[in-house]
Amino acid sequence: PVHLRGYTKTFGDNVVLQDVDLSIEAGSFVALVGKSGSGKSTLLRSIAGIDRDYTGTIDRSEKVAFGFQDARLLPWSKVWHNVVLGQPGSTAELRAAAKEALAEVGLEGKADVWPSTLSGGQQQRVSLARALHRQPELLLLDEPFGALDALTRLHAQALVHDLWVRHRFTVVLVTHDVEEAITLADRIVVLSSGGVSLDVPVDLARPRDRRLSRFEDLRERV
Ligand code: ATP
Ligand code: MG
Repeated sequence: PVHLRGYTKTFGDNVVLQDVDLSIEAGSFVALVGKSGSGKSTLLRSIAGIDRDYTGTIDRSEKVAFGFQDARLLPWSKVWHNVVLGQPGSTAELRAAAKEALAEVGLEGKADVWPSTLSGGQQQRVSLARALHRQPELLLLDEPFGALDALTRLHAQALVHDLWVRHRFTVVLVTHDVEEAITLADRIVVLSSGGVSLDVPVDLARPRDRRLSRFEDLRERV
């Protein structure tokens, strides 16, 4: 679980988020939505521990992995090496572990190629494999599908959903896409005007269309 208490973040005079209380249950899938500039990435970086320059508290016992919109692969390292970068182990061990993680995202055949030879969607999946290899309890994703074409995005979304069902880690997904939020997440948190303006559960057991009609007005808020 993750607990934020009185989380406040400023950049100079700009108060991005003020006095935010938010608890995220272990195993839940939270979609964090809101207009550009509402503080989604800022909050995610703080939860990740990348940015510790805030007031208030964030308690997080879970082991975290972070995925970005651009896959951020190192071009001069082979795909398998990108997956296990900075991790301890012998080359043989790491290579085997990387292949295992790549198999989980459907890229078992791509271990020994250069990242530049992969499509955007494939690079994104390598980035997911890298996160999986770290066996996270908490997966933080900042608009991971934003740069993908529509079909590739659908596949990537389904993959993340499958991985969540299979591993039951906690996911916090930042997205602009209301449909994506409603399709994937079991809870939607909307940021606006420096705080949480809406926090609602999504009943994933309900048909997707019914869920979408329920959240019709959300579109104007993100
Ligand atoms: P988007 O949907 O466009 O990615 P966001 O909700 O992720 O937006 P943030 O990137 O968290 O928004 O930015 C929130 C606010 O904080 C914005 O007003 C932004 O200008 C400001 N901000 C973010 N990073 C910095 C920084 N490094 N220095 C100064 N201001 C920053
Ligand atoms: Mg952002």
